Order: sequence, then C-alpha cells, then structure tokens
Amino acid sequence: MLSSVSPARALAVNVGKGVRWLLRRLGHGGTTLPGLIALYLYRPLIGDLGQAIPNGSLLVTGTNGKTTTTRVLAEALRQVGLMPITNREGANLARGIATALLSYANVWGHYRLPNAAIGLFEVDEGAFPEALAQLQPRIVVITNLFRDQLDRYFEVDFVASLWQEALAHLPPKTVLALNADDPLVAYLGETVANPVIYYGIEEVQLGQKGLEHAADSRRCPRCSVDLMYSASFYSHLGHYACTACGWRRPDPKVLAWRVQLGGLEGSCVDLVTPYGPKTFRVPLPGLHNVYNVLAASAAAFALGVEAEPFEKAMARVGAAFGRMERFKVGQKEALLALVKNPSGVHQVLNTILSQEDGKAGLLLALNDNIPDGRDVSWIWDVDMERLKGKISWIVVGGLRAYDLALRLKYAHLLQDQSNPVVLHVAKDLHRALDLALEQTPPGGRFYIVPTYTAMWELREELVRRGHLPPFWEV
Ligand SMILES: [Zn+2]
Repeated sequence: MLSSVSPARALAVNVGKGVRWLLRRLGHGGTTLPGLIALYLYRPLIGDLGQAIPNGSLLVTGTNGKTTTTRVLAEALRQVGLMPITNREGANLARGIATALLSYANVWGHYRLPNAAIGLFEVDEGAFPEALAQLQPRIVVITNLFRDQLDRYFEVDFVASLWQEALAHLPPKTVLALNADDPLVAYLGETVANPVIYYGIEEVQLGQKGLEHAADSRRCPRCSVDLMYSASFYSHLGHYACTACGWRRPDPKVLAWRVQLGGLEGSCVDLVTPYGPKTFRVPLPGLHNVYNVLAASAAAFALGVEAEPFEKAMARVGAAFGRMERFKVGQKEALLALVKNPSGVHQVLNTILSQEDGKAGLLLALNDNIPDGRDVSWIWDVDMERLKGKISWIVVGGLRAYDLALRLKYAHLLQDQSNPVVLHVAKDLHRALDLALEQTPPGGRFYIVPTYTAMWELREELVRRGHLPPFWEV
C-alpha cells in the first residue's frame, strides 16, 4: 500500500541508499554516513524499519565485548534457521543501525524483510537509550560498564543512570540478559519489572580476594557504601555484597560453573543453563571471552535456542576467528591469514607448510600499532626454523620488518647450503606486496601472514587492485 508510507520516509530511504551506492563506488564501506543522512531526513526511521522485522530485535550494549557477543549470537541464531540483520563492527551508533536497515527498504520506502529476519544490533553505551526507545527490542543484553570513554560519557554512574531511565520505558515482555558479576549492570535488574536472566562466573578460584585498585566501581549502587568482594575476577567484576543494605550479587541462571583457561587457545567451560549442564570449548582466549559467551548464551536461552545449536555456533565462531582468505592474482594463487600471536603463527604455518615442498613464497607483515600489540618480542617465540625446505623466498614488511628480518637471520634459513631462502625487506606494505608478486611465477603460490593493522592495509590495497572484494561484500 503505497499510500501508507510517508513521503519523508521514502525520501530518507532513497537518499540514504543513494549515498551508500556512491560511497561504495568511491571505494568506502559506507557503514554509517548513509544512515546518518537518512536519520536526519526522517528521525523515526529506525523505529519504523526495526519494528517491522518479523522476529523482532535484540540489542547488545556495554563497554566491552559487544562485537564478540553479537558474533556468537548471530551464529547461534543462524543455527536455528533465523536470519540476523546486524550492523557492521564499529558502526554501533544509531546511524550504523539505520544503514544496516536501509538494505531492506525499497525505493517506495516499503520493507522487504524475509520471514526469518531478526534484528541483532550492537549499540554504543551512549546510543543505547535512543536505540532502545525506537527499536523496542525483545531482548536486551548488557555486558559490562567500564570507565573507558570518560571524555564522551562522564562517569560510569552517570551512564548507569541513563540506562536505568531508558529501561524504565521498555515493553513489559522485553527480557534483560545482565551480567551478575558487574554490580552496576546487575543493579539495573532491580529497577525494572521485566524478566531478567542473569549470567556470571562461579569459578571463584579464578578470582582474587578483594578488589583491584583500578576497579571502576566499588560502591553499592543502592546505598553507595563500599561493596565487599569475596572474589574479583578483573576490574570490578566478581562476587560482591553490600554489608550496609544487604544487596548482593544476584544468583545467575546462566553460569560458568567451571572454567579452565587454556591460554591463547581459548578455554574449556562447564556451562549451566536452565536446559542443563554442557561442557564446551570457547575458542577465544581469556576470561573476558567467557563472559561474552555467557552473555550470548543468556540471550540465546531467552530466545529458546537450546544448548546444542549454541555449541555448534561456538565452533563456527572459532573457525571464523582464524579465517584464511584465498584469492587469485592473475594466474598466481594467494592465501591471506591474519595472525595475532605465536600460537596463531604456528597454526598458520602448520596448515600451509603441510602442503609445500619449497617452491612457494611467504609475505610476513609485522606492525606494532596498538591493535597489533606494541611489544613484538613474541616473534622470537615463533619457530621460524620449521620453514626450512618448505619456502623458496620470504618478503618481510610492515613497521617492524627489520625485527622480522633479524629473527629470520637467526633461524639459519638464509644460509642453508642445500636450499637457501631468499629474503627481501620492504617496510612499505605496498612495495612488499609488489615484491611478493614479482617473486611468484604464473601458476605459483604465496602466503600473506600479517598482524592486525598490517592485514587491513594489505587488504585495502588488494581491494584497490581488484584482487579481493571489499569487506562489506565478504
Ligand atoms: Zn548497599
């Protein structure tokens, strides 16, 4: 019914879509600007579009862990046949959500949403109240509240009070999945009449007694007296109680009964949900990722997703985490594999070397920007010696190319009498890529193994040269 759509909305949708088309033509992702412009033209866009999603929406907010929680949840939803509509990583303001929704409106401003569609949006702490008011979600997941963006959001107590106010206007059926171990988040459950599913970690041996000095919040959200911690896991997350008013950590319904941290390989978790106990591997490292999986699990439980599909989803997330990307440059075959640490490099080398006999090449790219990790000394823990006889040349690139070159010198690959490896050094990654392509004969193969920011730079260049699709098409 064309008459039911407001001309303002149709205009906003069309302008938004046009801007996105143009940005992509110009080689930009266009994950926020189209939505920003569309919202400027028609403010209720998110509410209109979002509330038309057949299976409703889930909102994920909090300071840390939004993206991982959303990724795990998205996989779990796919496992039960739903089709999550999500905003892209980093586009977690209202404009990112609007951009994601634009794809599902036609030029008349009508929606074209498949029956299996379900909204799954991660939102910034500050954008949460508006997203909440507009989307009226079925489930709200709140991961934690840390003091990391003081310049934008003032004190954590202030953010908590904003959230509290926003949650007061929720539809009564909306379920909250809240972190029981974060007092500021857990207390939100006290202030609403909605159903709440708390999640938390029960393995107190992993914690320490008392609270770290750097903890962001140590006062009782109800009476402002200092909380007592019987165990704290990190920052202000732990098992707490208030000696003054008696408020204490709520008992979680979804919990990690036992957690065995396995370093960079991830953890083994005994998860208990109302569906029963289940032991499975979390293929992401660290206790913070156990929390993310618990958050996703609590939300999945609220939706009625059982433990089995959730477990399958976990395995798939693990595969995506260490994903390798294959592509061709003319007749040359290439494989791009992101690495973050020695064990990641070992896994990649094991995988690629098993099929090589000394003809292929390797482009190693090491940056030391913050997302890569500033300390690159871990390269000395990488067993580069295993490259012997498997690789004919290596190009090292990135900001710390010379550290890599030194490491390789001591691996005695270059002086090997029978099969010396040829080494090229080029800090500039575009030049490093050129060198790698020059070394590879038609029909030949090479591997690109970069750290995080080096990967983005190389990927961008490969997209620019037309060898890889832009990330938004992957
Ligand atoms: Zn108290």
